[in-house]
Amino acid sequence: MQQLVFATNNSHKLEEVAAKIEGKIKLLSLNDIGCTDDIAETGVTFAENASIKSKHIYNKYKLNCFGDDSGLEIDALNGEPGVYSARYAGQHGNHAANMDKVLVNLKDAANRTARFRTVISLIWNGDEYFFDGAVEGTIRHERSGTAGFGYDPIFQPDGYDITFAEMSLTEKNNISHRAIAMEKLLTFLASV
Ligand code: IMP
Repeated sequence: MQQLVFATNNSHKLEEVAAKIEGKIKLLSLNDIGCTDDIAETGVTFAENASIKSKHIYNKYKLNCFGDDSGLEIDALNGEPGVYSARYAGQHGNHAANMDKVLVNLKDAANRTARFRTVISLIWNGDEYFFDGAVEGTIRHERSGTAGFGYDPIFQPDGYDITFAEMSLTEKNNISHRAIAMEKLLTFLASV
């Protein structure tokens, strides 16, 4: 069976993809290949960061692999926090502080349109392929809901009157930026 490394140790992401390619491709995590490298996300676009991860693994291990990068783009903030989504307020992964910073920066801004975006870089037999996904929405004035992670409590996807943090995981996973990008990757893998 073909092997494919997902350049992540995020178990939720791994399970989601592994379940869909089970029996066709064996999915490996960074742990599975013994990679403990801290791969610095120094790119200024999601595509660059996704590519940094996949190329790091390919160059070192010569294995088919893919990496992903995601974030929130807010139009009134010229696309911020973008690639800095995880560390917008300074400390990596401080979601509460990140949301506070967004709400302060937006203040009473009339235009609150935003989107979550994911880009995947796949290296397959030496060639690089990109897959992307986006979900459009608006930034609420206050947090609502406790599910999910990151900016979910302040992001309301278009066509809904609840935030990502008020949705069940299944509901969110049906429409999310990551799910859209992953579906494109899976469609490609089904054709190889
Ligand atoms: P990652 O590239 O998937 O690790 O995402 C980077 C950062 O973007 C996260 O730490 C979050 O701040 C934000 N983010 C990405 N996806 C989501 C999501 O589905 N909900 C909320 N925040 C997200």
